[in-house]
Amino acid sequence: RLVLGIETSCDETAASVIEGASSAESGASAPYSRILSNVVFSQIEEHAAFGGVVPEIAARAHVSALDRIVAAALDDAQVGLADLDAIAVTAGPGLIGGLMVGFMTAKALAFGAEKPLIPVNHLEGHALTARLTDRLPFPYLLLLVSGGHTQIVLVKAVGEYERLGTTIDDALGEAFDKTAKLLDLPYPGGPNVEKAALAGDGTRFLLPRPLKSKPRPDFSFSGLKTAVRQAAENLAPLSDQDVADLCASFQVAVGDTLQDRLRRALESVADQHPSGMPSALVVAGGVAANAYLRTSLEALCEDRRLRFVAPPLALCTDNGAMIAHAGLERLLAGLVPLPDEVFALPPRSRWPLDEGAAPLVGAGK
Ligand code: ATP
Ligand code: MG
Ligand code: FE
Repeated sequence: RLVLGIETSCDETAASVIEGASSAESGASAPYSRILSNVVFSQIEEHAAFGGVVPEIAARAHVSALDRIVAAALDDAQVGLADLDAIAVTAGPGLIGGLMVGFMTAKALAFGAEKPLIPVNHLEGHALTARLTDRLPFPYLLLLVSGGHTQIVLVKAVGEYERLGTTIDDALGEAFDKTAKLLDLPYPGGPNVEKAALAGDGTRFLLPRPLKSKPRPDFSFSGLKTAVRQAAENLAPLSDQDVADLCASFQVAVGDTLQDRLRRALESVADQHPSGMPSALVVAGGVAANAYLRTSLEALCEDRRLRFVAPPLALCTDNGAMIAHAGLERLLAGLVPLPDEVFALPPRSRWPLDEGAAPLVGAGK
């Protein structure tokens, strides 16, 4: 089974072709699917001057790059449109301009090649990525930490997601980016905070652990960012060591918070679904690239005797392979909308993951 995946929801223009492993190969250790190509064009340089993603610039950049990126993905995989079994595309949530570019392009390709078109929720792409590289049975617990989202989700099946907790203010990636900005570290912030923290002492500043011990496994990160700002203001002007220590202390506070909130989520699953305990903790989204946080989550899993699964770094940030894979899972599960339905659909800037397989009606904000 060959699936083309297209992703344009934020600031990466991405396309990928994956091949579902045949049942003969899909033994316990064989990956679920094989990535034949994975082309990602990051627009980071076009947005860097503004310190964040500018929607209008992003949409225009998708328009000028997408045809070439799709052609490169097909080329790298050495397949033609006629060889595909389906085309999957991110239909939301995200920046509406970029989503329109990707969805319209995918509609045109699917219509022209007479292939099924599978609209995919970007968050479902992140949620199922771990099954692209690992044989991972449902249910599992997902920690989704990206630039726009911070959620703990019980992944029960393809299209069945129960959101246990979410952030009440900033997303974790956003908190990394804002912390970097106020410490004068370059954009994008997350990787630079991680780099600076390597030379820092994480015990120097005792930063808050927002919502710690609250019964619902929600998150809040804006107070943590404010605490970093106050500490920085008290120390100004900052030495490189001060910056490193603040970054390290920030990461320690985040790691501690994630552990506490996940413990709480596991307790609530044990209360409500005693028979459906998760087999693993999966971390996904751009922040999952952070090695310190991975180690911290690994420690939690060891303690709770849970399997820990973190996708390879390149599959943590936005990419087309995760969308292709979610499309493949939907294809195999028979969750493919009728052509008439899907061609009439607009993309959705807001689309909560727990609406799952529900039709994409009620589009827009
Ligand atoms: P969403 O998926 O919610 O729509 P997005 O597409 O912007 O948002 P991703 O591309 O998945 O998110 O991730 C980008 C975020 O991940 C940014 O906020 C970035 O700072 C953060 N990030 C990337 N690498 C690291 C790292 N090593 N440590 C911490 N954060 C990181
Ligand atoms: Mg991004
Ligand atoms: Fe993303």
